[in-house]
Amino acid sequence: MYYDIWKPYVPVAKRRAQAARKASRLAKKGHTLSPVVIDGRTIATTFWGKAWCSNLERYSDYANRLPRGRTYVRNGSVFDLRTAPGTVAALVSGSDVYEIEVKVASLPKTRWHTVCKDCAGAIDSLVELLQGRFSKAVMGRLCQANTGLFPSPKEITFTCSCPDWASMCKHVAAVLYGIGARLDKSPDLLFTLRKVDQQDLITSAGKGLQRRRKGPAPAKILDTGDLSEIFGIEMAQTAAKPTRKSRRPRSK
Ligand SMILES: [Zn+2]
Repeated sequence: MYYDIWKPYVPVAKRRAQAARKASRLAKKGHTLSPVVIDGRTIATTFWGKAWCSNLERYSDYANRLPRGRTYVRNGSVFDLRTAPGTVAALVSGSDVYEIEVKVASLPKTRWHTVCKDCAGAIDSLVELLQGRFSKAVMGRLCQANTGLFPSPKEITFTCSCPDWASMCKHVAAVLYGIGARLDKSPDLLFTLRKVDQQDLITSAGKGLQRRRKGPAPAKILDTGDLSEIFGIEMAQTAAKPTRKSRRPRSK
């Protein structure tokens, strides 16, 4: 047994039991859980999920806690994750059951208009958009740091009911990865979180018929290598396994 700085290590079986008790209390109140289930080691497999996770990993602000967050989300600790415009509420099983809220800032209107303008004529349908079936040029545009669709750290705020949340705790990190996993199933969630209408990207395509031929090349699904190229970093599933070394004492 090892100790997590201050608190004794809580075995997985006990964590599960705590989570089950919480789940049963919530069920009595009519609350249906929406757990994040990861199949294998890969947290996200689609363009939207991978791009979300890569975006998290591009910022050094989050570097310390992300490896623990990946472990947590992979082992099923995020046993409830619910989304609403601009907000994600989640329950994570750790030493105790913790409640997490993540708020994502709305995409500034001017930025959204510029994204739509830059992608005009390049995305033919909502299905192509949500399946991530568009050119590298469009992907690169959507994934641009600070001017694309994905939030920078200053556009993400969070709270956790654990005593350690002032700097990002592993529970929040797990929820952030949980959002990436959820985007695999519901890519439209990104637009909900950022409070923009994904249809605008398609509508722009209609309006921009004149420009269609000049738009980026037709649909193509990026593989991990391409995404890594865009972000200039390793993708989550190829990152090193977290080790005890990566565990840090609370510094704040
Ligand atoms: Zn926490």
